[in-house]
Amino acid sequence: MWLHDPQTFPELESLDFTMPQRSRLYRPVPMGAEAGQIEGQLSYLVRLARAHSVNPRRLVRTVFASDNLAIRQLKYAGFFSRGAGTINGLGKYAELFQEETGQLTGACFLRHMSLLPLKELLPPNGAGLLAPKPRWCPCCVGEMVESGDDVYRPLAWSFDLYRVCVRHGMQLQDTCGHCGRHQPFIPRYPDLGRCDHCGGMLANSEQQKSSSRLDLWASKAITNIVQHLPALDGIATVSRFVAFLKAAVARFSDGNRAEFCERIGMPPWALKGWLSDGERPTLPQLLSVCYGLGIMPSKLFLEPEDILPSMRDSLRPVPEKLFGRAERPMLSVRARRKLAKDLDAIINNPEDVRSLPVVVKSLGFTQFCLKYWFPVAYASIQDKHESARKLRMAIRAQSERDAVVSVVRLMRERGEYPSRRKVNTELLKQKMSLIRPELMQIYRQAIAGIQE
Ligand SMILES: [Zn+2]
Ligand SMILES: [Zn+2]
Repeated sequence: MWLHDPQTFPELESLDFTMPQRSRLYRPVPMGAEAGQIEGQLSYLVRLARAHSVNPRRLVRTVFASDNLAIRQLKYAGFFSRGAGTINGLGKYAELFQEETGQLTGACFLRHMSLLPLKELLPPNGAGLLAPKPRWCPCCVGEMVESGDDVYRPLAWSFDLYRVCVRHGMQLQDTCGHCGRHQPFIPRYPDLGRCDHCGGMLANSEQQKSSSRLDLWASKAITNIVQHLPALDGIATVSRFVAFLKAAVARFSDGNRAEFCERIGMPPWALKGWLSDGERPTLPQLLSVCYGLGIMPSKLFLEPEDILPSMRDSLRPVPEKLFGRAERPMLSVRARRKLAKDLDAIINNPEDVRSLPVVVKSLGFTQFCLKYWFPVAYASIQDKHESARKLRMAIRAQSERDAVVSVVRLMRERGEYPSRRKVNTELLKQKMSLIRPELMQIYRQAIAGIQE
């Protein structure tokens, strides 16, 4: 028997209860609980598509682009296969996707699944930071598949210098073991355990154990950065880096910069750039300093006062491979600022679809220089040109198709049989010929259409 009117529950009405805000998409829990193994923002995007059983590119094209103008402009194929790599980085794509994924899912943890916390430390162009193609450890992928959970890619795998898995000591791979092809950053099929081209598993048995101690050290240092990203956010700044370097130079070489550089095996211009010219260190350079001093990168920012006095006196020279000084094309800060402005204008002008060699020539730089200092702009210009070329070709193919169909139709209307020879004669006047297989196929289809 009801004690109250069954429609009202005074006990509940007195509770101060507000429903949490609804989100448009379901919010999966990020993978990678182990220290330094947190999932990257890109991997989260693919698993988000998986949770909704849709093609990840379709999710971006329709849902993400529907209320975000900036994402709407990124819908070309080159973006999904190459440009999207910077979603895990510290530039505008990382911010764009963090914001939009957050809006759609209500997730507030995405910032630490990209390198945005290092935005005030590393150069904005991301030089030496991200791998140009997606990479994975086949052993880790194998374990994820066996566990039955979604396969994911830790953020650490996106760094260019993360070449060896810290868990298995295996070299990371960037090509499928079955078809040998690279993987796109945003695949068509929402499964990071399978090749996006042939569908084969990316966990194969032909792995190579890495013998490079330097590579393993770099991977450990990167894992250390990723593990401490939340703590480094707001702390890892270029001014703290400079303050630490000054203290280190004072501690190890009585303030003599040239001597410090020599002992650590770095070219002398590096310190001048950082200490006097306001340059930011690239990640390989930051890791070189840490390697020379024998410390993990997080300590440089989180415990600077404690580590310097307790360090041993011997510095170890940095192997040139890590520093990559030979690969650094010289460009002054002023020239770089101007170049950045010019490139921005080109990228934001949809009418400007010039090819890279033409753009580079007009700016007066080499392609190598542009790629080194502005890898994202480099890829964007390339993608924009490629998309425009494909669009032109598609328009041309359509107009040729229309021309063949219209020649056949006109002959029929005149009561003639559109024989291959007659149609070809007409087409030759428009600089086309049925000798081309694709036009021949259209001709056959047009004839079949008439006979039906
Ligand atoms: Zn592994
Ligand atoms: Zn494959």
